[in-house]
Order: sequence, then structure tokens, then C-alpha cells
Amino acid sequence: MAQRTVVKIATPKLQREGGGFLVRRVIGGVVPRCDPFLMLDHIGPTEHKPGEALGAPDHPHRGFETVTYVIDGGVKHQDSAGNKGVLKAGWVQWMTAGSGVVHSEMPTDDLLKNGGKQEGFQLWVNLPSKNKMMEPRYQEVPAETIPSVKTPDGNVIVKVIAGESLGAKSTIETLIPIMFLDIHLKAESQFSQTIPESCNGFVYVWRGAGFVGHNLLPAHMGQIGVLGETGSEVLLKAGTQDCHVLLVCGQPINEPVVQYGPFVMNTQAEIDQAIEDYRAGKLGEIPGKEDRFRQTEAAQAMQKKNSSAT
Ligand code: FE
Repeated sequence: MAQRTVVKIATPKLQREGGGFLVRRVIGGVVPRCDPFLMLDHIGPTEHKPGEALGAPDHPHRGFETVTYVIDGGVKHQDSAGNKGVLKAGWVQWMTAGSGVVHSEMPTDDLLKNGGKQEGFQLWVNLPSKNKMMEPRYQEVPAETIPSVKTPDGNVIVKVIAGESLGAKSTIETLIPIMFLDIHLKAESQFSQTIPESCNGFVYVWRGAGFVGHNLLPAHMGQIGVLGETGSEVLLKAGTQDCHVLLVCGQPINEPVVQYGPFVMNTQAEIDQAIEDYRAGKLGEIPGKEDRFRQTEAAQAMQKKNSSAT
């Protein structure tokens, strides 16, 4: 089968997002959009002292999907449609914002109070024009419901967040074909994954180091490899240490994209409408907003105090 090469390796810089937490903007920065993917942030890994953990208090989304995958710590979420819950380590939340929601993504009470490690991902998947104004939809998947499959030799473990790998299929429904795999390769092992010929995609090394693509380009923690356009096999290889890689690909939508922050539509008129609807309160609101902004300010002040003390 034809193999995909990696056409570019890039290293996103650390930047601050939401209430001020540190992220690597993997897609949507050093690598621009990769249709249908608008953004990928690697959150942390950050070791928080008590009182320091930050999140993203109340903000809107319209016209796309946000996918949150928690590695460490947790996210307390709430939205204007009345949904609320806690995402724990290993959980995935696939939120189709559609016509729009206001939501908050905050650290768990335990993480804020006692401190601890925070690490995770947020992927933004665009929606085709026909789905942009659909009813918002949630798929919240506990860690134990995400298929985790091993190669026969046990050297490669794949978590199937979306799509299919090693005969295991994700329970998450996507509006366009998407594959989202978290692949753990033990030292010196290798793995080849079949992907649809027509998809766009990338690989992101989030821990360890290895080699990516048919051309086996070296990539280490915090580096993205953009896949070339043709081929239906992606080769990954670990070096002398274990390597954790996200493999993400999807069918391109091939429509115009007009983005204004958390609104992603096809035309400027639709963006103007989104801003107007948000200002008019049509995306709703969540009780307790002031408390979450106050909590965020207090955590920012605590971080400042701790960093000036060291
Ligand atoms: Fe959000």
C-alpha cells in the first residue's frame, strides 16, 4: 500500500490561552489550519501549586466542534444548554457547538485546591455548511468506553478516540469521517496505520521521541509532522524511549472559512450574525459567571505570587 510521507516537521511555541494556561498551538499557529482541523492545542503538561490551576471561564462557540481529551488532571465543564460534568483523566468530550453554546471549562475543585498535573488536548473540527447551525450535541466518553487495543506483541497500544484501528471502533459519532488515535509505542517498536486515501492529517508527538512518516523524520515531544497528500499508510517508529503520538486525519470540507475567535462560519455576514446573536444573549448564559471569572483572577494572582517568590 502507498505510504504517506511527512512533508513538514514544526515546533509550536508555548503560549497562553483561556484564563492564561500554557498551551502549544499545534494546529492554527506554526502550522495553519489543516482542513477540516482548525486548531489543536496541547495543554500543559503543567505542575500546579495549590490555588494556581486555570481554565477558560464562560465563552461562546458556533459553527464547529471542540474535542477535549484529558491526559492528566480534570476539567469541570458547564454550558448554557444546562449540561454540566467533570472530565477525568482519559476522558473525551466531543462537543458539536453547531448553532452555538456558551460554556466554561474550568479546573476541577481538587486540582485547584490541592494543585497537581494538568495535561490534555483540545482539537477544533470544522463543520460543513449544512451542519454549522445544527442543534448543539454532546458526546461525553469515559476512559473505559474508549477502545484501547494492543498489537499481538503488546508493543503498541492504541486508544481509538475516533475512527478505527486494530479492528476496534470508536463509539463517537462524527459528522464527517475523522480518525483520532492516541498511539503509545514502546521503545524500538513500530506501527503502521491505514488511513483513508482522501484525508488530510498530521501526527503529533506528545511524549518521548521517535520517527514519523514513510520517510521516518525524527520528531520529539512537542513536534508536529504534517502528512503529505497521498498514500493510505502512516508509519510510526519509537526510538530508544517510549513514544506517544496522536494521529489525526479527516476528510477535507473544501469550503470557505471565515473565523472570528470562537465563531467559524463560511461568510463574513454569518460571522456578523454570530456576534450579534451572542451580544443579544441568544447563545444563552450560565449562572455563576462572576464566580468563575473571580476564581480565574485569583488563580492568576496566585501564579504571579508564586513565580515572584522563586
Ligand atoms: Fe471552549
